Amino acid sequence: MPEVKMPTIEKASKTGFCFGVRQAINLLEKVARERAGVGRQHAGVETLGAVVHNQQVLQKLSEIGVRVVNSIEDIKGDIVVTSSHGVSPDLEEKIRARHIDVISTTCHDVRRAQAAAEKLAESEFFLIVYGDADHPEVKGILGWAQGKGLATTDEKAVAALDPLPRRLGILSQTTQVPAHFAEFAKKIIDLALTKNSEIHIIDTICHDLRERQAAALELAHRADLMLVVGGRSSANTNRIAELCSRVTETHLIETADDIQPAWLKGKKHIGVTSGASTAEDTVDEVMKRLENLS
Ligand code: SF4
Repeated sequence: MPEVKMPTIEKASKTGFCFGVRQAINLLEKVARERAGVGRQHAGVETLGAVVHNQQVLQKLSEIGVRVVNSIEDIKGDIVVTSSHGVSPDLEEKIRARHIDVISTTCHDVRRAQAAAEKLAESEFFLIVYGDADHPEVKGILGWAQGKGLATTDEKAVAALDPLPRRLGILSQTTQVPAHFAEFAKKIIDLALTKNSEIHIIDTICHDLRERQAAALELAHRADLMLVVGGRSSANTNRIAELCSRVTETHLIETADDIQPAWLKGKKHIGVTSGASTAEDTVDEVMKRLENLS
């Protein structure tokens, strides 16, 4: 019988929660525990939108009394927690106007992008956010520019501005791929650098994601199968999966149960990585199932 060689199973050097998500969850757990079962009408705590885009994490949080509400009108208690993606100052003001306290878990990298947007708007720059216009983080950043801006990943949307503002400020959603942002910024320079124009580019990509993407890509180059563990609705997880899929066969999975044994057939080197809102335990369960299946 020929010897069957087991595949190498390797975890990327950066997986599990990023510091921003870890910090948001710690704070939320603390607030939920303090408010649990103390006889208030609405014990537990509500979050405005999902605090992270990961079903397994949200399920665990719901077990300690964390409830997700999708609009201000749905908040029942006297306190609400906003997500690590941050919110616009307008939205925060609207919540407070309803006599509801706001606990912010905005990650400091997102806060840095918000502060940059605010400063650019104050200096009369029209803001261009390289990112997904429907993402809560991007909506929040634009809100800090007092609405003087747009969000897009397509330079044609900027070219269509009539007139093209003389002063343009360009920054990025924190979870974008650095090389893609640089390409976009170059295209804006090409189309906007005319007489008297002024362009201010600020790199607001998150440091953790920069390292995570690089580690995932390095592993993807050596592997013949990559599994990216994270929420299907998580922007950063999808971006890592997309990057890896350019290099090797890649599947985005939410849990170990999503692994299809057929994927492993004939594979020699299987790489595992995760999005920034995936718990390390979930990654370890994936590693364990892979070892059992191999
Ligand atoms: S991915 Fe980066 S910006 Fe987003 S929460 Fe984590 S550390 Fe903050």
